[in-house]
Amino acid sequence: MASDPNCIFCKIVAGEIPSFKLYEDDETLAFMDINPVHDGHCLVIPKAHSPNVMEIGPEDFAAAARLAAKVAKAVNAAVSCDGINLMQANGEGAGQSVGHVHLHIIPRQKADGLLFNWEPKPGERGHIASVAARIREFL
Ligand code: 5GP
Ligand code: ZN
Repeated sequence: MASDPNCIFCKIVAGEIPSFKLYEDDETLAFMDINPVHDGHCLVIPKAHSPNVMEIGPEDFAAAARLAAKVAKAVNAAVSCDGINLMQANGEGAGQSVGHVHLHIIPRQKADGLLFNWEPKPGERGHIASVAARIREFL
C-alpha cells in the first residue's frame, strides 16, 4: 500500500503518532480532527497515500466516500447539530493543509457563521452551459 514517510496521516495510519480513531478497515480510517470546528468534526481517509483527488484511484476514493457516509450518520446521531457538511480540499488554493486525501465531516449549527457557506446567487445560464461543456470534455 502506498505510504509517504513524511505524511502526517500516513503516520497516523501506521500508529506512529496518536489519534482518536473512530473506525478502520483494510482500506480506510476515520479519526477525530485535532482542531475541531465543532464537536464531532472528524476526518475520513483512504489508508493508501494519495496527495489529492486529481491523483487518487477511483477505488480508494469510493472506499473513503462509503466510510464518510457511514461516519456522517454516526456523527449525526451522536452530536446535536442542524446539519452536516462533507468537505474535501485539494491544493493550497482550496485550503488543503495536509497532502493526503481526506474528507471532513463537519456538524453544523444554523447560525455558526462558518465561512465556507455562500449566498446563492443565480449564475448566467450561457456561462454555466459553456463551463459545463468544458468540464464534459474531460469526463
Ligand atoms: P485540510 O486543511 O487539509 O482540509 O485539513 C487538514 C485537517 O487535518 C485540519 O482540519 C487539521 O486540524 C487536521 N490535522 C492536522 N494535523 C493533524 C494531526 O496530527 N492529527 C489530527 N487528528 N488531525 C490533524
Ligand atoms: Zn499520507
